[in-house]
Amino acid sequence: MPKDSLNGRYDILFEPMKIGPKLAKNRFYQVPHCNGGGYRDPSAVAEMRRTKAEGGWGVIFTEQTEIHPSSEITPFIEQHLWEDKDIPALAAMAEAMKSHGALAGIQLAYSGINGPNLYSREVPLAVSGGPILTFTSDPVQARTMDREDIRDLRRWFRHAFRRSQSAGFDLICLYGAHGFGILQHFLSRATNHRTDEYGGSLENRSRFLREIIEDAREETKGEMAISLRLSLHEGGAFGFSNAEVRDFIQMHGDLPDIWDLAHGTWEECSGTSRFKGEGAQEDLVRGIRALTSKPVVGVGRFTSADAMMRQITSGVLDFIGAARPSIADPFLPNKIKEGRFDDIRECIGCNICVSGDMTGGISRCTQNTAFMEEWRKGWHPERSRPKGVSDSVLIVGAGPTGLEAALQAAKRGYQVTLAEATKILGGRVAQERNLPGLSAWGRVADYRIGQLAPLQNAEIYRDSHLTAEDILALGAQHVAIATGASWRRDVVARFHLHPIETDPDMPIFTPNDLMSGGGPTGGKVVLYDDDHFYMGSVLAELLVQQGCDVDFVTPAVKVAEWTENTLEQSAIMRRLLEKGVAVHNSKALMSIATTEVTIGCTWTGRQTGLGTDAVVMVTSRRPNDALYHALKSRSNDLKRAGIETVRLIGDAAAPGPIAWATYAGRRFAEELDTDDDHGDTPRFRREIAALAPGPSRLP
Ligand code: ADP
Ligand code: SF4
Repeated sequence: MPKDSLNGRYDILFEPMKIGPKLAKNRFYQVPHCNGGGYRDPSAVAEMRRTKAEGGWGVIFTEQTEIHPSSEITPFIEQHLWEDKDIPALAAMAEAMKSHGALAGIQLAYSGINGPNLYSREVPLAVSGGPILTFTSDPVQARTMDREDIRDLRRWFRHAFRRSQSAGFDLICLYGAHGFGILQHFLSRATNHRTDEYGGSLENRSRFLREIIEDAREETKGEMAISLRLSLHEGGAFGFSNAEVRDFIQMHGDLPDIWDLAHGTWEECSGTSRFKGEGAQEDLVRGIRALTSKPVVGVGRFTSADAMMRQITSGVLDFIGAARPSIADPFLPNKIKEGRFDDIRECIGCNICVSGDMTGGISRCTQNTAFMEEWRKGWHPERSRPKGVSDSVLIVGAGPTGLEAALQAAKRGYQVTLAEATKILGGRVAQERNLPGLSAWGRVADYRIGQLAPLQNAEIYRDSHLTAEDILALGAQHVAIATGASWRRDVVARFHLHPIETDPDMPIFTPNDLMSGGGPTGGKVVLYDDDHFYMGSVLAELLVQQGCDVDFVTPAVKVAEWTENTLEQSAIMRRLLEKGVAVHNSKALMSIATTEVTIGCTWTGRQTGLGTDAVVMVTSRRPNDALYHALKSRSNDLKRAGIETVRLIGDAAAPGPIAWATYAGRRFAEELDTDDDHGDTPRFRREIAALAPGPSRLP
């Protein structure tokens, strides 16, 4: 038993725990999570999982692994285990997971009514046929499985069990949560309309599950542990409710080796910090442990060791499940074990990681800049490569970009000077953290400020607005300009690429005005959102708090439409409606007069007037890059001052989400003293599909 600096206060989290035939070294359980890389980036995913192993997780899972081409969820990039050819990539992942004594788990999924099969072109098979239920409303229906299909599906699962075992996994997770897995479709009366022995009573709806768990034990000779991942509550009149989940577990308490329980839909389960606090699922899971002799794992964006302890000691959970906290800090278990609480890089609950999966990009994490770059770029969440030949670095601006650049450069061993114009470090997050629902975002600054504090080779100067002359006088070898961006006061963004006619008597405010405590405190306000991320809706909430009547005008079809990718859009819409905000979708501002604005329908062009006392523009941001250009124009002075490179980074180069800023800071520090071929080759490793042997055309 480890003895940490707190006299074993958290030892219980580090007790070895049995899961069926396997022994987990502790209670830290990385539940399956997507990463946007999947089958396309096998080495990147394996190396990402290796950092979790290194960081002390007891159990580590893959993302969703599709077992058969008759059920796949393109455009989302997960894993495939369709044939033996798929085994090596997953075996590499299992090896990485087990490299530091963790148990390796694979999540097996058959998506049924959720798989449109856009890639495989197979006819989707479902418990009960009907339109495919995806985020994208694909115009495809699934066919109802007959008994022969069910026998086929059992055999396909058997193949997957065998392949999982030969890939070296210890655990199998059967996916029946979030509305995505066919196991839930069998269990739920919403998706199971069958009248045969697989439909009707709960006993019947559970039949397929009983069958495949028996098959799994037989196929793997009882050597692998089986986890069942179920939704804790499916809403709607016919959904698999929390009460039915409890009935099911009471009836089948010993069926799997561990119950992995997660809230209803993915949106509900992985809510952002704006809408869900730590441990938000506790009410739904409390008491379930008494219904089974098998351990229970649950999630709740746990980052606090005390909150984790409470879950265990109060008998709610046996294992602390985590996806996002393990992404933000793969070393969370080890840091708790060693009592290094200040070093924990807490998840901020922004769901930028989720957006990587939703967009088919590759996931990134606002807090852990190394996430999914472990293999591609050789970045590590904790370790830094030694510095190169030069010594001194000056970073101008202490927002997320500058703080991350300073931290990473200092960790590499450079002598770092960080200058910030204001008295407060954090730049945009120092302001945004004060907006409704965004307080957790302050962690981006707090973590980095805390990590920089003990470093002898990093000096921070507040209240230091630097000019080009100041920078030349300081003469560091490398200079990063991380001076951020400012919101525009006009409509220029996506719909309008040029300003519109505007009466100077109409008061117009920007998000910067509101974040600095200015802006309207009553009366009618038009908030114009052509940004489509969180800022518009957050400011609408703030304006309501300040006593304003808000008209939310956006050219988009939905409010905050990009937040579909962070799983927040419906929660945002609900909140705006509940707060009495009037929503005007598909409307663009066309002109601004003294007491009213004209809005135009984006489809028909029809225009109407909307009376208002003020306008708040949430449109786009202008990079604060004047300092950079002033410096760049003085190449002789730079040379004389001994300045070798000047880089424009983060929002000052190209405004984007906070995760883009921290990434830019890391990149600057990582690339110090490296060769720059000016973009002639990619700056990251990637894998290219190998050409298959054999004839180019099948006979
Ligand atoms: P990013 O997201 O790229 O970090 P931010 O806008 O959050 O950008 O932060 C930029 C920071 O740079 C702000 O804290 C701002 O006060 C600071 N800053 C801007 N101009 C200067 C300057 N000339 N000297 C020092 N700090 C500056
Ligand atoms: Fe947490 Fe945001 Fe990182 Fe996801 S991207 S793990 S939500 S900090």
